[in-house]
Amino acid sequence: MNFETVKEALVCSVCGFKTVKAVDFPGLPLTGIYSRTGQDRNFKTYDQRLLFCERCGHAQLGNIIDASVLYGNEYVFRTSSSQTASKGSDYFADYLERVFPGKSFEMIVDFGCNDGYLLKNLKKKAKKLVGIDLIWKGRESEFVDDKIKIRGERIENIDFHAEFGGIPDLIVSEHTMEHIERPKELMESLFSIADSETVFVFEFPCFDVLLEQFRFDQVFHQHIQYFSVQSFMTLLGNLNAQVIDFTINYSYWGALIVTFKRGATGTNTIDKSALGNYPSKNMGEIRRRYDFFRQQMQAVKYAMDSLREEKWYGYGAALMLPVLGYHLQTDFSGFQYILDDDPAKDGLGYINLPVTIRQPREIDLSDACILLTALDNRRPVMRRLAEKKIKRILNPLVFM
Ligand SMILES: [Zn+2]
Repeated sequence: MNFETVKEALVCSVCGFKTVKAVDFPGLPLTGIYSRTGQDRNFKTYDQRLLFCERCGHAQLGNIIDASVLYGNEYVFRTSSSQTASKGSDYFADYLERVFPGKSFEMIVDFGCNDGYLLKNLKKKAKKLVGIDLIWKGRESEFVDDKIKIRGERIENIDFHAEFGGIPDLIVSEHTMEHIERPKELMESLFSIADSETVFVFEFPCFDVLLEQFRFDQVFHQHIQYFSVQSFMTLLGNLNAQVIDFTINYSYWGALIVTFKRGATGTNTIDKSALGNYPSKNMGEIRRRYDFFRQQMQAVKYAMDSLREEKWYGYGAALMLPVLGYHLQTDFSGFQYILDDDPAKDGLGYINLPVTIRQPREIDLSDACILLTALDNRRPVMRRLAEKKIKRILNPLVFM
């Protein structure tokens, strides 16, 4: 292990309790790096492990890999180009409308705004919109919009009064908290720029759903935090925040959406009965569910191996493909292609897999065996595949 780029995080980032090791992932590959020049055989992998806090039900990575390694290459995830993510943003906007029907906000801030897709979706709900994301550092002026302003800075360094004439009355954040190394400190600084009227609506992957659906393939180096309903409520409770509402979007990573406010000082207003503990989060249950996940991956691998003379294709050139390959113990080298409907990916490969991406319409699939490889896009992919005549379709997961 390289100690310059990897550091350990053994204490629960939510409650400070000592964590225990739940699952080991030795030599877990990096994800999200497409390549025009094929595989780099010397591309590094990193040991990883999932730690669990028995006090608050939080899970987190044990090894934090430096952002320059994780995002230094072409990290190509952009919301609008990812169908799953843009559908997730639509769901988020609908949820906001449900909780605050017809309400118009003075200023909406999107923390971790990515390409601004969600803000564009929320334009009708606010007078001013501000997107904050470090990916925009130094090129804020490239984002042109009459109502939306973009800042590529740390949120705690922005003077909202001076720059935008007030403080935000709504702060939203989608799929950002799971990347944050110190979520408690971040929440404290967010609360310090807000007042007691500011509403927060945050969405991030939910550890309860990961466990429920045996999705240990969703553990990867970029997601440092795995909040459960219980652990996020604990985080808010420890900061005296008030929960207004929460829901789970099952069709986008099993995401938890929580609406909350900064509380009056000294009163913990979290209703403990709302915490929920399904599926039960304890070491025994986590390990049992991980064992089932491994058995499932072994069955899928066995099915592929026993049909190895057939023509195999993956469907969906997911950023997460190297992690699926890791669990299936394959580098997909026996596959013809990974198929993907996005023309922008045509001809690309992966930095750490010897496969090429092709458009499905160019290929006769009547005799094909297809492995679903875009695991967080399975439902729309299945709908499309149902219209084609395909010999065999293999779903690597239990839940559809
Ligand atoms: Zn904890």
